[in-house]
Amino acid sequence: MIGIGIVGLPNVGKSTLFNAITKAGAAEAANYPFCTIEPNVGMVTVPDRRLEELAKIINPQRIQAATVEFVDIAGLVKGASKGEGLGNQFLSNIRNTAAICQVVRCFEDENITHVDGAIDPIRDIETINGELILSDLEIVERGIVKNSKLAKSGNKESKNLITVLTKIKEHLEEFNLIRTLNLNEEEMALVKQYQFLTIKPMMFAANVSEEEINSGNKYVDKVKEYADTQNAEVVIVSAKVEAELSELDDEDKEMFLEEIGIEEPGLNRLIRAGYKLLNLQTYFTAGVKEVRAWTIKIGATAPKAASEIHTDFEKGFIRAKVVSFDDFIKYNGWKGSQEAGGLRIEGKEYVVQDGDLMEFLFNV
Ligand code: GDP
Repeated sequence: MIGIGIVGLPNVGKSTLFNAITKAGAAEAANYPFCTIEPNVGMVTVPDRRLEELAKIINPQRIQAATVEFVDIAGLVKGASKGEGLGNQFLSNIRNTAAICQVVRCFEDENITHVDGAIDPIRDIETINGELILSDLEIVERGIVKNSKLAKSGNKESKNLITVLTKIKEHLEEFNLIRTLNLNEEEMALVKQYQFLTIKPMMFAANVSEEEINSGNKYVDKVKEYADTQNAEVVIVSAKVEAELSELDDEDKEMFLEEIGIEEPGLNRLIRAGYKLLNLQTYFTAGVKEVRAWTIKIGATAPKAASEIHTDFEKGFIRAKVVSFDDFIKYNGWKGSQEAGGLRIEGKEYVVQDGDLMEFLFNV
């Protein structure tokens, strides 16, 4: 499964935002020769100021940031789950993403019509959620029918499956997302095969006008209130401003940001929130050739982290040298960290912490 799917009703600013994301954060394709990049998939670098701080100490030939993928899922309309528009195809595009970013229109602009008339972010969110819920319901119902015969003949797994699916069905029928049902690990494993849409982590991008980036507005407040009930994060952006920013070089960008009174592009916050939504964190490798950020799941052990660099590293893992980011800066690099006692030797069980600098020792 790849990245974060950007969904939302037509005319809420999805494409504007997606184009800004891919333009501003475009990972240089040349650095990723093994990735095929489809037009609706944007691989973007994760903004991380720590990389520059590391580079100041190491002075490497090259800096490589971590990346995260965004997928533009255009065309989700009311009735999509019933095949309206190109409905089902769009829903299957969402199925392949690991998380969902729902763009919500919170800007007023008479020139840009809203598909359902007035601006009403909660109605919009519920329209989208409704389609996702209906699509999941269909799958649940099919799953129950398919397993009921086996369950009756005593098949244990089918029986368990039906119990969970029935629980999910009731939850969906009350217009809830599966995500809020808090299934346990065992139940999650049982239903993984169905690739439900509403089980995915979700966040909201509240698209506001330029004047409201800092203050927000009454629509944003409503989105926040709603998102809170689902434990979801809301990032305020102005797609239009981000589109303008993405056209500027660094110097002009700084000036523009100062003018509108924000410290960094909203996209940076959005990208970082996406990274968090995917439950990802970063560790670094740092040598004269390259200072590089690597992406791993939160909770990953050292051998798993090593496998990001090369799959063989996991099998042959012996131990790792580890320095926390703060120590590495404080003690001015590998040598200083070792002398000051900031460098640790960690084994197979070590759970990697965000910002760790790592060097692996392995058998090949
Ligand atoms: P999509 O259908 O959700 O992909 O929406 P688009 O990105 O194509 O945007 C629809 C229209 O809204 C375009 O004319 C955009 O220029 C405009 N738009 C997008 N974001 C903003 C915004 O923050 N403020 C204003 N005023 N217009 C916006």
